[in-house]
Parts: sequence; C-alpha cells; structure tokens
Amino acid sequence: MYRKGVLDLADMTDLPREFREALAEHACIGLPTVERVTPSADGSRKIVLKLEDGGRVSAVVMPDDDRTTLCLSTQVGCGFECAFCLTGTMGVDRNLTEAEILGQLLLANALLRDEDRRVTHMVFMGMGEPLANLKAVVRAVHVMTDPKLGLGYSPRRITVSTVGLVPGIERLAREGLGVNLAISLHAASDEVRGRLMPVNRSFDLETLMNAVRQYPLAPRQRVFFEYVLLEGVNDSDEDAHRVAKLLRGVRAKVNLIPFNDWPGARFRRPPLPRILAFQSILLGAGVTTTVRWSKGEDIGAACGQLREAVPA
Ligand code: SF4
Repeated sequence: MYRKGVLDLADMTDLPREFREALAEHACIGLPTVERVTPSADGSRKIVLKLEDGGRVSAVVMPDDDRTTLCLSTQVGCGFECAFCLTGTMGVDRNLTEAEILGQLLLANALLRDEDRRVTHMVFMGMGEPLANLKAVVRAVHVMTDPKLGLGYSPRRITVSTVGLVPGIERLAREGLGVNLAISLHAASDEVRGRLMPVNRSFDLETLMNAVRQYPLAPRQRVFFEYVLLEGVNDSDEDAHRVAKLLRGVRAKVNLIPFNDWPGARFRRPPLPRILAFQSILLGAGVTTTVRWSKGEDIGAACGQLREAVPA
C-alpha cells in the first residue's frame, strides 16, 4: 500500500480475490477527504483536508526544480499563540493521529502521480506544534522511512520543526530517527522572544540552546533556525549580531522568512535592504543564511498563514 500508493483494497489485484474480500471485512483504508486544492501562482498548492470529525487541516505541496516538498500539519489548530502567526490565533482543537499525518503524504503523492512527480522532502511545519504530538509524529516518521514496510524515505529528507519545546527535543533526540531538527527562533534575546513566543517563558534561550547542542547530528547535518523578520521588532543590526553570537559553535543554518502579511496582523515585513543587511551580518559571522521567500502567499499557505475552520 505504501510503496505502490494503492489506496483502495479492491485495487490490490496482486492479492487473491478471496483474500481481498476477507481483508475488506476486517480493515479499511481511511483517508481524510480532500475538500479543495488551491493552486498558487508560484506553483505551490494548498490541500485542505476534512477529517472524520469535521476538523480541517492543510498540507502544502511546494515543487522546486527536482524537489517537491510537502509541509505537513500535526494538530488541528495550534495552542502556542506566537504573536505573528495567524494559525496561532485559532487555539488547538486536537492532535492528529498518525494515520491523519500519513494520510496527508499519501494524498499528496496521489495528487502528484498524474504529473509523474512524488513528494521528495517533508517538513513538519504546517498547522500545529509537532513535538506537542510527538508520539504520532514518531510513528508516522517510522512508516515514512521504513525501507521494507513503509515508504522508504531517507530521514535526512524529513525536517521536524519546533517552537522550542525542550522536553520534546530531548525525546526526539532519544528516538534516534535521524531527522533534521528546525527551531523557530525568531529572536535572540529572551525579552523579545518572550514577547513574540509565549513558550519562551517556559523554556528560555539558554535552556533551548543546551537542548539543541545535545541533538545528535550526522556528519554535515545541521540544525535549521527559522527567523521571521518583523520590521522594527527583530530586524536590527544588533539583532543579527545577537543571533550570530547565540549560534556560535552550533552547526546551524538560518532561514530568514520575511513576514507574510495577514488581515489584522500587528507586524510588517521589513524593506528589502534591511532584510539583505541582516543576512549579510550573519554571513559575515560565518553563519550559513538564506532568505526564504515563502511560497503560497496568495493562497494563505505561507508560513504562519494556515488557518482552517475548526468544527463547531
Ligand atoms: S508559529 Fe507555529 S507554534 Fe507558533 S502559533 Fe504558529 S503554528 Fe503555532
């Protein structure tokens, strides 16, 4: 089922018919319903999925040359209330099951099959905090990576992103999955980070960085740091120097994300020269840094823009 992408028991024609019928009496392949697929001008697509209980989540497919990245959701809503994030205004309704997480991948691959493409990379950066639903995420990753029984993806093509839940980072490290770790950093002082991300009041930067330093990395593997640039809040030269200092001695790659506007947001995207100046300070300090121009902005699929109605 996983390797061939067959999503209906009746289509498993390499199995004897009686066996398929017996299987159908005891098991079903339950997938979320694709409610709509919204294409963006830049080629990305937001897949809105309706779950059995009526909850909705999104998965975003982002094709780029020879790679196709899928951004996965792990919860209905999110309870972490980052100040710049639309998803965080919803509150959390519930965790997704392992099957609902895998369902996003299977449906995305089914959608891409007509174009002779397949998801090549996965990022757990959609709706929700993956490490607040670690058990289901770990199980889903096992199926994604198992070479015999699962989909056979390399763990190095999978990135688990966290807002900075230190116990979750420690548990993920112990699982030894080999997946990439991404930290939503967004500020390099406790004062600013605490204002932007309430989670920083529970796990401050020092505690977070200690956990990051313990995360096992393969040779040439790095920890990703996501940094949304907000004009006048965290985008000064001093902020950039603080980030460089914080990451000293860590094998890190920084992704700068110019803020994606949404109705009612209190923040603004910095002008381009400011974004480039911030990047060049980090590069000058020897920190690999890219600017990620978000995909799917026009369809509400960019970072921090995912919001679907929760069931009444
Ligand atoms: S940025 Fe991530 S963790 Fe923060 S509120 Fe948004 S979805 Fe939740």
